[in-house]
Amino acid sequence: MAENNPRRPIALPHKVLDWRNRRIWLVSIRHYASHVLTAELRRRLAQERPECWSDDLSWLPDSEYILPEFVGSLTGYYTHFKGFHGCRPSSVSSYYEHGLLGQNSDLLCDMFREIFFDVPQEDVESIITQFAARSNSERGAMWLVGSDKFLIEQCGHYLIQGSEYLMALAAHLGRSPSGEDYRFRLRQYGVPTILEVDVPVKLVPGVQQVEVAKTILSEWGQLATRRLLPFGDTPPCYVVRQDIPPECVRDHYHPARIIDPHKGHRPYANPFLTCDMCG
Ligand SMILES: [Zn+2]
Repeated sequence: MAENNPRRPIALPHKVLDWRNRRIWLVSIRHYASHVLTAELRRRLAQERPECWSDDLSWLPDSEYILPEFVGSLTGYYTHFKGFHGCRPSSVSSYYEHGLLGQNSDLLCDMFREIFFDVPQEDVESIITQFAARSNSERGAMWLVGSDKFLIEQCGHYLIQGSEYLMALAAHLGRSPSGEDYRFRLRQYGVPTILEVDVPVKLVPGVQQVEVAKTILSEWGQLATRRLLPFGDTPPCYVVRQDIPPECVRDHYHPARIIDPHKGHRPYANPFLTCDMCG
């Protein structure tokens, strides 16, 4: 039976919301939401031309009915939301074998001990103990964003320095007597990598599904009113608290140039452009 073999592809229609292809997801709205975003509503908006914000839906008549209906249609139409995960792993193949397993703080603490083997052990252990409470509350959280460009330009630290948890531990360790900032030592381990992941919609928490829906509604409204709002193109963010299976990993690459938020947003030239999967 298919469910005994997780590697066997499941014959379901595979519809992926790819935030980078704005034109395509705008055109697709009519396939799943024309019963709420009607021609009549579009005409009314074109006439009244309100500001169609995503965080204030007062421009949308009956929003208390339309929003949940739209969220239901959106998450019924799409099977996956495409997300990009930035990391600096020593083995990329493990993502293809095991998927994205969330934050394993025990494993990260072992790496921390290994990387800072030359620092007094009591300092290292004291920081690990301080972070134990935090690691319990954050266990398993996996961060993905809808655009790889955004990841490279705004959240490059995940690629340059790797796990935020390791970075926080290293930051608390501070500097060596000779002045070495321990955070920057993390740059010597692993390969800066962007993973392209088709996240099953059911793994995306409901609050984030609603955020995606509101942003799409806002874009649709701005088209209908022909009144573009001045805000940046911020892609949706997905915080997944369950393991993401390996078949959801679609691709990966290693960007040559990454904006470094920890060094004055200067570009970081990535010296590792291949890995155990593509090398
Ligand atoms: Zn690679």
